Amino acid sequence: MAAEVHPKPQARKPVLLSKIEASQDVVNTAVIIPKEDGVISVSEDRTVRIWLKRDSGQYWPSVYHTMPAPCSCMYFNPETRRLSVGMDNGTVSVSALQPKARVTHQGRVTVVLFVLEMEWVLSTGQDKTFTWHCSESGQRLGSYRTTAWVSGLQFDVETRHAFVGDHSGQVTILKLEQDDCSLVTTFKGHTGNVTALCWDPVQRVLFSGSSDHSIIMWDIGGRKGTAIELQGHNEKVQGLCYAPHTRQLISCSSDGGIVIWNMDVRRQETPEWLDSDSCQKCEQPFFWNFKQMWDSKKIGLRQHHCRKCGQAVCGKCSSRRSTIPLMGFEFEVRVCDSCYESITDEDRAPTATFHDSKHGIVYMHYEPTRGWLLTSGVDKVIKVRGHDMVRTCTNTHTRTHTYLLLQIKDQCSR
Ligand SMILES: [Zn+2]
Ligand SMILES: [Zn+2]
Repeated sequence: MAAEVHPKPQARKPVLLSKIEASQDVVNTAVIIPKEDGVISVSEDRTVRIWLKRDSGQYWPSVYHTMPAPCSCMYFNPETRRLSVGMDNGTVSVSALQPKARVTHQGRVTVVLFVLEMEWVLSTGQDKTFTWHCSESGQRLGSYRTTAWVSGLQFDVETRHAFVGDHSGQVTILKLEQDDCSLVTTFKGHTGNVTALCWDPVQRVLFSGSSDHSIIMWDIGGRKGTAIELQGHNEKVQGLCYAPHTRQLISCSSDGGIVIWNMDVRRQETPEWLDSDSCQKCEQPFFWNFKQMWDSKKIGLRQHHCRKCGQAVCGKCSSRRSTIPLMGFEFEVRVCDSCYESITDEDRAPTATFHDSKHGIVYMHYEPTRGWLLTSGVDKVIKVRGHDMVRTCTNTHTRTHTYLLLQIKDQCSR
């Protein structure tokens, strides 16, 4: 994998619109407020801040609230303006109706999710538990013990399935009832931790990102068990967002790389790697095949695999490298000589574009109505990117801003 070459970035590049020099410490979650020029951030420095864009084009903190502990995660529901914040001390602060933060975990809360339709607050923690509470009564409804601590959580409202991705590398699918849950199945495809999950309820596809640098698209709706791999990062995948209007998957990694994948193409599954004691092309024995080495007086060779056909081949029969974008290989990978010949220039057309956020990404959020992308970095800066054409008027929102502020201020101060 040493010879990986990045394809040239293409046009349609998201441009940097604003930079927010955020906090004293890292912002663990930040979201763009739809239809308004605002950003909400929660930080390791214990603050919840709302940043609004002024006429000068700069974002200024309009609400500043200090929480009892470092804020590890947050969920913002735009319809109800409800802000749920998970903290390092195992508590989740839900809404104005729940005056006190509730202890939900013994240890840092890793993901929090509010489901308006069920009035549930789902959360996961470093204590390896997944729990759900009633957001109105505060009553704990149920919990599930996970194999390892969880860093990805998604929920399908229609079927009440929760997708839980953990540090053992597996994704657990649970069916939630009001106060009970049952294990549906587990997916295991990553060789590293699951670091991010993204569910597209329309196509019923789940994306999982991992510290093994890969993304897997699990086609749940297709019911054929298809799992498509996407290889486009050189570091741990940090975040995944799906843009339904353009059918693009946006992924980011800890080295600052952002990849925008065109999911409107027919992608193929990668083949299983075949086992063989000798090269499936030239029939030379591999080094553990002592008998054949002895019989034919040949030196054993190292085994490689063609990424396109999965055959076990020697180095000589797989000397070429190619991208195979429809199999998710946007970087050049090893292919056998006959597969190399079969790959056309058309096949090599990239299905993704590559961008550099220029900071190590901690969190990413995509706002679909304007197509804006937010990244929060280890440099404590929040960056908002969008397309150049998008210019919103900053001073017409004054009234909604005040309304929004009052509501969130109210939630924070109770
Ligand atoms: Zn060979
Ligand atoms: Zn091949």
